[in-house]
Amino acid sequence: MKSILIVEDEEDMVEIISYTLKENGFIVLSAGSASEMWEKLSNDKIDLILLDIGLPDESGIDVLKTLRRQENDVPVVILTARRSDVDKIVGLELGADDYITKPFNRYELVARIRSVLRRYVGHKGNKSIVKLGKNTLNVDSYTAVDEEGNEIEFTKKEFGLLKLLISSPKKVFTREEILDRIWGDDFFGDFRTVDVHVSKIREKLGDSVIKTVRGVGYKLGGT
Ligand code: CA
Repeated sequence: MKSILIVEDEEDMVEIISYTLKENGFIVLSAGSASEMWEKLSNDKIDLILLDIGLPDESGIDVLKTLRRQENDVPVVILTARRSDVDKIVGLELGADDYITKPFNRYELVARIRSVLRRYVGHKGNKSIVKLGKNTLNVDSYTAVDEEGNEIEFTKKEFGLLKLLISSPKKVFTREEILDRIWGDDFFGDFRTVDVHVSKIREKLGDSVIKTVRGVGYKLGGT
């Protein structure tokens, strides 16, 4: 049975969702705040998070950002009452798996959750191995293997940067975006840090692996 963590401060809402999900065979846990969520996440097995944006202690958007920055890829379905939040979520490419606006139909909610879980199982199958040109990346060990089978090692940040570019192969990432996504709040440097990491990755995988888009930033190259 799959466990769903409802992160929502409105008790009525938690009650309705919880009832619906239990009725459909899910194990349900709930958290009324972001801090409670972090606690549950480290203590319980969670297969999917239903995340409200308007939480008392932290915005659901920031919670999601932190989750993805920690490379936690637990499926997240956003709950929101405002259409403008949806635009924000989609625009920021925060890594939400789906969203649902309140008020919602209970059957739709269950259908969305099932579909996200199904997709996730499919994606889990070989998620640790990514092909990049002639190289094969192992996401779990932060290493790559070239066509001759030689192992190439990366630092966690280098590998995170590479993974970020791979996650949206057509997108140009600005240095600011890369800093925000890979370094986050624990960073006290400048944009050159990104450039230095890019050149290290190029030294290891070849210049063409990352393309410089002048005046904008970087994107995955045509390897
Ligand atoms: Ca709320």
